[in-house]
Amino acid sequence: MLPRFDFHIHATDGKARTGIIAMRRGEIRTPAFMPVGTAATVKAMKPQDVRASGADIILGNTYHLMLRPTAERVHRLGGLHGFMGWDRPILTDSGGYQVMSLSELTKRSEDGIVFKSHLDGSRHLLSPERSMEIQRLLGSNIVMAFDELVPTTSTREVQAAAMERSMRWAKRSRQGFDAGGDHAESNALFGIQQGALDEGLRKVSADALLDIGFDGYAIGGLAVGEGQAAMFGVLDYAPGQLDAAKPRYLMGVGKPDDIVGAVERGIDMFDCVLPTRSGRTGQAFTARGPVNIRNAKHAEDQGPLDPSCGCPTCGSFSRAYLHHLVRAGEILGAMLMTEHNLWFYQQLMAGLRAAIANGRLSDHANAFRSAYYGGEG
Ligand SMILES: [Zn+2]
Repeated sequence: MLPRFDFHIHATDGKARTGIIAMRRGEIRTPAFMPVGTAATVKAMKPQDVRASGADIILGNTYHLMLRPTAERVHRLGGLHGFMGWDRPILTDSGGYQVMSLSELTKRSEDGIVFKSHLDGSRHLLSPERSMEIQRLLGSNIVMAFDELVPTTSTREVQAAAMERSMRWAKRSRQGFDAGGDHAESNALFGIQQGALDEGLRKVSADALLDIGFDGYAIGGLAVGEGQAAMFGVLDYAPGQLDAAKPRYLMGVGKPDDIVGAVERGIDMFDCVLPTRSGRTGQAFTARGPVNIRNAKHAEDQGPLDPSCGCPTCGSFSRAYLHHLVRAGEILGAMLMTEHNLWFYQQLMAGLRAAIANGRLSDHANAFRSAYYGGEG
């Protein structure tokens, strides 16, 4: 029987690592990119096609699922895996980020957050205990601790207070998760480091999390508008403040070049809506940079989106056809563009893993950047 949760690092190159997270639901090759399946679907993609792109794990959103169709209903229907037809690992977020960005907050206290649904105005509570309960009902394999977020423009005092509260909530999350007992699905709990762009706050947060003890550690509060240079500035020290033997997950990141730079700085896991969301709006990622397929210059281009891509879209369809589909608002356009983007991200991760294993990450990353920034898409 596969272990509950086990992380093996097979090779390192500088600060970067490549390895395997072994779980009952399957293995996750790291560095890993997790497509976002917000509402029990990776938008425009069937689960088998998500898998075919190379994804070992997907992410589900607690906030969306607790409101519709509700965690209790998903549980009655056998959990998220059976409900959506994805039998491999699933990570769920805690709901904290989205409740603060999407809903109308009515009360914020040490207990938790009372908010109004963005769907129908109904009133709900999210707390560390309730977030653990929801993620368990969903059948999540990697559960995220519930934390508090404040705008990055907040004063250091406000940032520090939110980080301190998040650490108290991390402890309550640990207790709530453990109170659920042994569970076939809930295999791991990750803590989330906060502290904005402040090295001292990040250290206090890391020490508090290490003291509680988690199966993995996320770096939260980045990719929220601070810019790549500021984010890399934090990533120069933050991963080193965490437990080197556990997976490090950079939440909500990012653009392909963000991912390459973060892998060089020791990050093992990523999630982002970018490949799926961009696919639906006509943006494709390629080795020669992003392409806006709506652009008139693609109208009669019979070449593929990316000649170096092995995806089914690039194997069968021209830029001209995709241009037509997207401009006409055809559903197939969103499907094919999303499929290409997910393959592009997984091919990017596979290339990074191979480069780390072969001890040539630096050359590989530099060659990627030179083509990505130097190309015309
Ligand atoms: Zn492709």
